[in-house]
Amino acid sequence: MKYQRILLKLSGEALMGNRQYGIDNDRLKEYALEIKTVVDLGCQVAIVIGGGNIFRGLAGAAKGMDRVQGDYMGMLATVINGMALQGALEDIGLKTRLQSAIEMDKVAEPFIKRKATRHLEKGRVVIFGAGTGNPYFTTDTAATLRAIEIGADVILKGTRVDGIYDSDPETNANAVKYNSLTFQEVFDKNLKVMDMTAFTLSQENNLPIIVFDMNKDGNLLKIVEGEIIGTLVNF
Ligand code: UDP
Repeated sequence: MKYQRILLKLSGEALMGNRQYGIDNDRLKEYALEIKTVVDLGCQVAIVIGGGNIFRGLAGAAKGMDRVQGDYMGMLATVINGMALQGALEDIGLKTRLQSAIEMDKVAEPFIKRKATRHLEKGRVVIFGAGTGNPYFTTDTAATLRAIEIGADVILKGTRVDGIYDSDPETNANAVKYNSLTFQEVFDKNLKVMDMTAFTLSQENNLPIIVFDMNKDGNLLKIVEGEIIGTLVNF
């Protein structure tokens, strides 16, 4: 096993499957099964999940809503997704804990780093909800922050594309994929990996990032076992 402790970042949109909004239960189950394969191997798994399938603060602001209000709505959306994923993981026999950056003691523990790492050591999957708990941030930043806090070996950004390309592979058929990049190369080439806040936080703390296709069966396990899948951004 190459990575003992991982932080898996899933976007809210990934949970939609083929739907336009909300949560697709089949997709949720598929993700849960993928996660189980690495937990069964003994890998410690923490997860940050986005909320874009339900609400984004920026989208609300574009329609005239107060940005801060919208961002809190987005953060609450990540808790809803976290609860859904928690249910799917527990349905297949995994032990889990949901920790929220916004206190809501009926549905989640508060985020406490020491507790989170203890859960991980006991083999529980820890889901971090409510992003960083602050407006004007993203769940990519939350994922990076939590990864650093818990001492994860790597952040795995599961997307629907299989890595980082020199141009958008969904619009350019000739786009070329990178197998690995340094942080500096990502800056120099102006590539989109995560938003800048998240990206510089990773760089400053020497946290490697792997962008990979989470919708392909077995990818997560392969990465944890050390196979080169997706694109690795390293220092
Ligand atoms: N958000 C926030 N602070 C955070 C994380 C998230 O305000 O620390 C809000 C923000 O409005 C964001 C929404 O929650 O648009 C959902 O998160 P994100 O857009 O990162 O989700 P994803 O794109 O991964 O689905």
